[in-house]
Amino acid sequence: MSEYYWCHGTYCHTHQTLDRVRGSKGSKVLRTKKIKINPNGYPTGFYKYFCSQHCYNEFANEHAERIIALAPRHEPLETQIEDPIQEKSRYGYSYTTIVKKGIDNNSD
Ligand SMILES: [Zn+2]
Repeated sequence: MSEYYWCHGTYCHTHQTLDRVRGSKGSKVLRTKKIKINPNGYPTGFYKYFCSQHCYNEFANEHAERIIALAPRHEPLETQIEDPIQEKSRYGYSYTTIVKKGIDNNSD
C-alpha cells in the first residue's frame, strides 16, 4: 500500500487541468491532487505536501503570518566572507567572487 497526501494548496481543487477532473459524466468535479510517496521516500520536502510550486505559493500567501510565526526573525543573520574579489573573464566581462569564511553556522 502506498502512502499519499492530498495537496495542501489552498486552491488546488480550482485549477482547470484535466488531471484534476474526476467523477462520472454529468457530475464532474475538479478534485485536489493526490501526491504519491514512493517507497524510496520521494518526493521530499514541501513537494510531499504540494503538487506544484504554484499550490505551495498559494498556501504560503494565504498563511504567511502563521508560517512566519513558526520562526520569527527580528534581527538579520550574517555570514562572514572574505573581501570580495573583482575579476575579469577571458571574454572581457567583470564579475565578483564571494567566498564564505570558515563554516557557515548561520544556516537556521
Ligand atoms: Zn495542488
